[in-house]
Amino acid sequence: MKILEKLSNQFNYMKKKDKRKIEYIVEHYSAGTKDTTQNELDYFAREHVGASAHDFVDDFSVGHSVPYNDVAYHCGVDYSKQKAPYWGKCTNYNSIGIEMCALKDDKILDLRNPTIKNAIILTKQLMKTYKIDSDHVVRHYDVCGKNCPAPLVEDAAAWKCFKYNLQTPFKVKTTKEGVKAYSKIGGAITQKFNLGKKITVVEVYLQNGLLYGKGKNGNYFRLKNTEKLN
Ligand SMILES: [Zn+2]
Repeated sequence: MKILEKLSNQFNYMKKKDKRKIEYIVEHYSAGTKDTTQNELDYFAREHVGASAHDFVDDFSVGHSVPYNDVAYHCGVDYSKQKAPYWGKCTNYNSIGIEMCALKDDKILDLRNPTIKNAIILTKQLMKTYKIDSDHVVRHYDVCGKNCPAPLVEDAAAWKCFKYNLQTPFKVKTTKEGVKAYSKIGGAITQKFNLGKKITVVEVYLQNGLLYGKGKNGNYFRLKNTEKLN
């Protein structure tokens, strides 16, 4: 993944002298279908819009626009009449904002979508750097009630899949006898797991509304028939 950098116009964010405490990561999307990190970087460098995100992500690159210690204006307006679960908890001051480009009409909303894959890679890096757990990675929707990132708001399983992929690798245990493993999603059965079998999940996928874990040995199985272990 390529890293591009072009700082936003200073009108669009707040410079911080002292170190700020970063507790949340907020995921957004650009509502367009043809945006790229480069044209988002150019736009925010050029225009005075009073809005910003720290990073933009597209199929090929991450574009860094606002220094992480500075405050980007990405989740400060409430659309929920203060009913969104993270309103008042997650703010511009204690969060990093990531904006996914050109996601609007995408149908594949898991790791097979390169923008989503890149957003997950970037989010995981930031989680590690700032010691943020996956419970503190939220959608703009969760903070402000805005339909953003719309594909991951309108499809709750897609957001679940995104969150699972922030936690990989993790272990699960089968909760019934004979859970089937497949060579690929929709492929041949390769194995049946006993009840209580522990499996390390390395990736999670979403197909036809169903979540599949990919095990360390390359098999796929329905996550529904397992429980997550800590
Ligand atoms: Zn947003």
